[in-house]
Amino acid sequence: MANQRKNVLIIYTGGTIGMIKREQDGSYIPFDFNLIKSEFPELDKLGCSVEFENFDPPLDSSNIGPPIWIKIANTIGVNYDKYDGFVVLHGSDTMAYTGSALSFMLEGLGKPVIMTGAQLPINEIRTDAKENLVTALQIASHPDCPIREVGIYFEYKLYRANRTQKVHADVFSAFNSLNFPPLVEAGVHLYFRHPTPVDAWQDKVFKVQPKLDTRVAHARFFPGMTAETLDAVLSHPNHRGVIVQSYGAGNLPTDKAFIESIKRSIDQGKIILNITQCMGGSVEMGRYETSAMLLSAGVLPGADLTFEAALTKMMYLFGKYDDLETVKRLLVRNIRGEMKAERAYTD
Ligand code: ASP
Repeated sequence: MANQRKNVLIIYTGGTIGMIKREQDGSYIPFDFNLIKSEFPELDKLGCSVEFENFDPPLDSSNIGPPIWIKIANTIGVNYDKYDGFVVLHGSDTMAYTGSALSFMLEGLGKPVIMTGAQLPINEIRTDAKENLVTALQIASHPDCPIREVGIYFEYKLYRANRTQKVHADVFSAFNSLNFPPLVEAGVHLYFRHPTPVDAWQDKVFKVQPKLDTRVAHARFFPGMTAETLDAVLSHPNHRGVIVQSYGAGNLPTDKAFIESIKRSIDQGKIILNITQCMGGSVEMGRYETSAMLLSAGVLPGADLTFEAALTKMMYLFGKYDDLETVKRLLVRNIRGEMKAERAYTD
């Protein structure tokens, strides 16, 4: 019911927001969640009830990968009915990967899961942590929150997590989402620009899909790359799927050696997904000769997927489905708002 005091669970995984400087060399190391609580007395004034789940030890997000994604997803799963929303505190470095993974693993999500962090620790005078945390909490506890998905909040904007990339190592606006507009902008008010589409959550049953298959890899093209380099990635027996990052609208050199390597691995039952190296725009295979040949070789078009979304979507689909055709079908469909597609939200 609107206007009731909302319950939010903060899941603290680590990241700069809660780091302190190590005495010996001045480098930042993850620290206890009590630092955040003591530096942030405003927490009590927010008008929502907040509880905490602290990961021990707190981690720099460079050390976060599939096992911690599963732990976060399960923490949300176990607490799903008790809370109206979730705030996940996480280092910014790999937040877009974790956010993308969670967007797939949290099936039928009907509540806000807002990830945030900071570029400066919460106990530093110019910190961005307080604004990020306050607003993330206000979104997650908003009486009529229309966000029922995983978002990344940083520096006045909430983005759809599986559309987001970390684009800057230093400035406070560290994230961007060139192919999808912000879901919420924070100014004098919170402006909810893009409510989560109803067909993403209505009549769906919430469920955590905790199985991921990490046998995926990545080949980013560069001028001068050899077919041997590509082949080393494609032919590796552990790789069930490979994301090829091509130029522009999905183009690769026309050199036959590349195509032969790609065809060989597709014949061996591997999946190759083509996404662009550009941060904005979409793969459109067939627009140029240099991509038409990929289409006929059986390479799948990844449309406007970010690398983070493509990678985690592959891990999720390989983890969930044994049938290769189902994985292929869903890779090129929109399942969580992660890519533009003719049909919205396929299962
Ligand atoms: N290295 C830190 C991390 O990702 C950076 C940050 O939190 O912004 O955990």
